Amino acid sequence: ILRSVSATSVAEPRSSDVRISRPVLAPRRVLVTGGAGFLGSHLCDKLLSQGHEVLCVDNFLTGRFSNIDHLRNNRSFKVLRHDVAQPLAAEVDEIYNLACPASPPDYQADPIQTMKTSVLGALNLLELAKERGIRIFQASTSEVYGDPHVHPQPESYWGNVNSFGPRSCYDEGKRCAETLFFDFHKQHGVDIRIARIFNTYGPRMRPDDGRVVSNFIVQALQGTDITIYGDGSQTRSFCYADDLIDGFLRLMTSPNAPAAPVNLGNPGEFTIRELAEQVVGLTGSRSKIVYRPLPVDDPRQRRPDISLATSALGWSPKVALSVGLQKTILYFDDLLTRETRKLAE
Ligand code: NAD
Ligand code: UDP
Repeated sequence: ILRSVSATSVAEPRSSDVRISRPVLAPRRVLVTGGAGFLGSHLCDKLLSQGHEVLCVDNFLTGRFSNIDHLRNNRSFKVLRHDVAQPLAAEVDEIYNLACPASPPDYQADPIQTMKTSVLGALNLLELAKERGIRIFQASTSEVYGDPHVHPQPESYWGNVNSFGPRSCYDEGKRCAETLFFDFHKQHGVDIRIARIFNTYGPRMRPDDGRVVSNFIVQALQGTDITIYGDGSQTRSFCYADDLIDGFLRLMTSPNAPAAPVNLGNPGEFTIRELAEQVVGLTGSRSKIVYRPLPVDDPRQRRPDISLATSALGWSPKVALSVGLQKTILYFDDLLTRETRKLAE
């Protein structure tokens, strides 16, 4: 069992108005909410590898101990089971707020809780950032563009989002969180960073989380039908996790990073049918491709305009879809083999 946290305590009172911020490359105490999830656990690894201390805060709704189990003996890593919808006090120097289920079946399972996580979570963590005078990062999403009429999507596009539908708890929750970030920055001078993340995939996605990349790979490896929703002509742009985490760190540390939303994603755009064909090709699977009804409000197209990330952060993704898929397939193959072995024992 992971050591439970001792690093959390009441926040230190601010002794004066003078803020002494640590140089960005010095070791920092970093709070990562959602740190036991797919992206959060990769972020924890990266921060620890750079010599920082990490406090991972997670309620384990969609996160897993297995994602962070390898860190159990790392003295710089601590875990706190906590719901970000509740206030949090912690002695930390910066915050990455990733807490929120990201897969449509996960966030639609309890939409009220999803909304609370996004809105109250952002509010509580912004209060903490304000109290301590520290920088805070928000994991926002391409879902703020809804079913976009502008393609590709630049940050200046306001989006086309339904406020009254099955995806709204996530989309509107994240939009509200962005608004809170804007207001805490404007009203209280909080130092903010916001990443609008486009579909990202890689090792440590849950095999049953319902997102398209994990679904297709697991179906292909198990030889079951590959389920395309709709006719498969809708598009998405898929970013490999390592590229995205590099973008997070640049956004948090770069001197030119704006206190405003920045798109992070891979501009390579694929139809869902093309994705299915690539997965079948790379796995050599005999799975049949079958068609299922398209979920309500499923966006038709998605592709990030990453000019801002490139000019302000010097960031662009490096991992091609075929390469990232191969790494992800190896991960799931190993995971499924181990699970099958366990069942047989
Ligand atoms: P994930 O579901 O694997 O991780 C989310 C983590 O947040 C989990 O560990 C979960 O247990 C935790 N969590 C959920 N509600 C919480 C709460 N109330 N309090 C504390 N912890 C809570 O998803 P992910 O793909 O790693 O996504 C991480 C973040 O990035 C999310 O905020 C998501 O909205 C955002 N994002 C991800 C993608 C993507 O393609 N992966 C795209 C856009 C945005
Ligand atoms: N999708 C699909 N089959 C699946 C899962 C998803 O065809 O088994 C489609 C889904 O309808 C959407 C796209 O793949 O058009 C991406 O879905 P995902 O849930 O991964 O992300 P999001 O819709 O949030 O972009």
